[in-house]
Amino acid sequence: MLVFQAPRRTASPARAVGLPALFCALAIAATSAHAAGKAHAHGDARLDVAIEPQRLSLQFSSPLDNLVGFERAPRNDKERQQVDAAVARLNAADTMFRIDAAAQCKLAKVELASAALKLGPVDPAQAKSDHADIDASYEFSCTDATKARHIDIGLFEFKRLHRLDVQVAASTGQFKRALKPSATRLSLAR
Ligand SMILES: [Zn+2]
Repeated sequence: MLVFQAPRRTASPARAVGLPALFCALAIAATSAHAAGKAHAHGDARLDVAIEPQRLSLQFSSPLDNLVGFERAPRNDKERQQVDAAVARLNAADTMFRIDAAAQCKLAKVELASAALKLGPVDPAQAKSDHADIDASYEFSCTDATKARHIDIGLFEFKRLHRLDVQVAASTGQFKRALKPSATRLSLAR
């Protein structure tokens, strides 16, 4: 299989569409996500947010069904278009995650992994399952990420997603939030 790795970049949503170089993934990201033993429930997904002074990282893990309505390789042009659109949307992270301007963050890296879509490294455990996930990890470089009071999350554009369980880790501690289509702003105030 092929693994593409993108160079560090400041992303432009327009350029993100259809560039093979962006279909990138690191083994580490995929392995750690699966090692966490997360549940697979259609309609639900998980977002981990880590806030450091000059870096804000997000790790999104979702059943593939939430994004495209099936959990296997696409079988026809319509399904391939659905996958391409979902991948392009996940790659356009600076509009998917709108971080409070006070933190002055810029997108630095996007990595996607899904065995069913042959994105990133193949996880043998997942390849055998009837269900399939997609993992996306993001890194933003920030002037001061601790100044971010909120992040507006665009993931509910995926209409099959109904609940996002968020875990935030910051120097001040950890906390959890649950977002839904009617409440898409992640408050970082404790
Ligand atoms: Zn499933």
